Amino acid sequence: MDEGNLCVVGSLNDVNVLHEREVELMRSNRALEELAVIATHEMREPLRMIELYLALLVDRSKGKLDVETQELMQTVVKSSRRMKVFIDNLLNFSRADRFRENFELVDGVRILEETLSLLKPMLDGNRVRMIRDPLPKFIGSRSLLVQLFANLIQNAIKFRGKVPLEIKISAERTTKEWVFSVQDNGIGIPREHFDDIFVMFRRLHAHSEYSGSGIGLAFCKKIVDHHRGRIWVESEVGKGSTFFFSIPDPQ
Ligand code: ADP
Repeated sequence: MDEGNLCVVGSLNDVNVLHEREVELMRSNRALEELAVIATHEMREPLRMIELYLALLVDRSKGKLDVETQELMQTVVKSSRRMKVFIDNLLNFSRADRFRENFELVDGVRILEETLSLLKPMLDGNRVRMIRDPLPKFIGSRSLLVQLFANLIQNAIKFRGKVPLEIKISAERTTKEWVFSVQDNGIGIPREHFDDIFVMFRRLHAHSEYSGSGIGLAFCKKIVDHHRGRIWVESEVGKGSTFFFSIPDPQ
């Protein structure tokens, strides 16, 4: 056998090894996701009981406790609420894969309307000025896209600045994809965190400043990955942030 043949055999072996590793990685990822779904699902029931009995305890002890004990109770109530939000977010995150099959022709305008009606109490309560450019029709998962827009809009509200809040939603066509944007005039994000905010549990603030679980943007990234698109941010501290995500559209 000459050297050329050896080289071909070598690279074929490499390809096979790589393929086997990829299959193995996909298998272990799926197993981890299954585990996360089961674990978070199982955690919900005991947490529900904790919340229920805690509410009873707070109710029965009304007027009977000293201020310090009341404050301790409130801390427990707040922590159990935080844990519920965290578990719900984690469960949604783990379930995202199951929506893969539900890809269909969706209307961006209707997706945004559905998102805004879901968030109506929050939008009304915060007196948000929404600016909506026309959005296209494209192939995607309706339920995941609603969650994507909802996460980005909720963050825009949560990280608002001192000026009246404005959120602008737009879409622009490039040769191969649609690029959507959610722009706010909030507190902004330092440049050095433009990438790591999309990593699970990465947060730039303490819980005492802003509530949250650090799952929202990781979930957004996962949804955009499912659509074979990209997500990124451009921002200036004190001026606002624009989150962009692309959805491939070969037409
Ligand atoms: P959470 O909001 O639960 O903290 P996210 O994953 O949604 O988690 O966001 C990660 C971090 O990115 C946030 O803690 C915040 O620091 C930053 N961030 C996200 N969206 C915005 C925004 N619109 N304006 C300013 N900072 C933001």
